[in-house]
Amino acid sequence: EAKRAGGRTYRIFAPQMESDIHAQRTLRNEVQLAVDRHEFVLHYQPIYELASKKVVAVEALLRWNHPTRGLLPPGAFIPVSEETMAIVEIGEQILEAACQIALKLPDDIAVAVNLSPVQFNQPELLIGAVRSALQRTGLAARRLHLEITETLLLANTPSTHKTLDILAGMGTKLVLDDFGTGYSSLSYIQDFPFSTIKIDKKFTDSLYVNTASSAIIKAITQIAKDLSLEIVVEGIETAEQESFVRMLGPTQGQGYLFSRPLPEAELLLKLSKPASDARRMSLAS
Ligand code: C2E
Ligand code: MG
Ligand code: MG
Ligand code: MG
Repeated sequence: EAKRAGGRTYRIFAPQMESDIHAQRTLRNEVQLAVDRHEFVLHYQPIYELASKKVVAVEALLRWNHPTRGLLPPGAFIPVSEETMAIVEIGEQILEAACQIALKLPDDIAVAVNLSPVQFNQPELLIGAVRSALQRTGLAARRLHLEITETLLLANTPSTHKTLDILAGMGTKLVLDDFGTGYSSLSYIQDFPFSTIKIDKKFTDSLYVNTASSAIIKAITQIAKDLSLEIVVEGIETAEQESFVRMLGPTQGQGYLFSRPLPEAELLLKLSKPASDARRMSLAS
């Protein structure tokens, strides 16, 4: 707002800042409406066993089917949803929807759901949401993978620790997502009941530029093997990256080379055809 005093104009906010603040406020309100109107949808990106090209899991990735702006990626609204706590309710809806999809897939395919650190601020709600999603759908707990990032583990509070123990105790599999992006500490692997480590796309991107990337992937894979943990490598976009990754040891991968995140109908088509060869990936699609 421009403020007039003694004939002079003082700008307290630049017009750009003012419209940014307005846009943020609008977004916050819209997110809450979107929850009530069920405008959020999940897309699913398969995770493959590299040697056989069998799908071992599908990762649920949130999208907002915005009434005027089209399909929005999580980066455009998750931070705001976390600020307003709307992510707690959105997270509950995602858990149940993801479990429902898993029931339409072959029994040996799991579904992976990303959890926000904010959901761990209300552990009873999170645990209750996981338990009720499993009970209402009847999905076997081992088929529900919960992806969390190390941001959550930084504080390493007794509460977080207890919550993760309870979730693992229920039979769900815990996945350490985006490994290597933050303050990755190997002690997380020792301290928390993870069954899978997902190596971040930044390592895949820099395989040919940075020799440290391949050394790190190789070392983590060896440690994971000794601890009986699975390793998934994210963001594989080229055949060269795939063969490099396989040479280093990891056995599972995810990326645009194999499949982009797909809407539900496309996912179901892909994983149920051809009949005799249901879970082989098709590079042609
Ligand atoms: P993430 O869990 O690490 O998910 C992987 C992201 O990398 C996804 O982006 C996916 O579309 C993208 N990706 C996969 N393969 C490739 C590739 O080969 N190349 C490139 N360039 N990108 C690839 P997306 O869907 O935009 O999700 C971004 C992040 O938002 C996710 O990172 C996750 O942290 C968060 N997120 C997504 N869905 C949810 C959700 O339901 N709840 C919560 N709390 N967070 C979510
Ligand atoms: Mg993830
Ligand atoms: Mg990730
Ligand atoms: Mg990521």
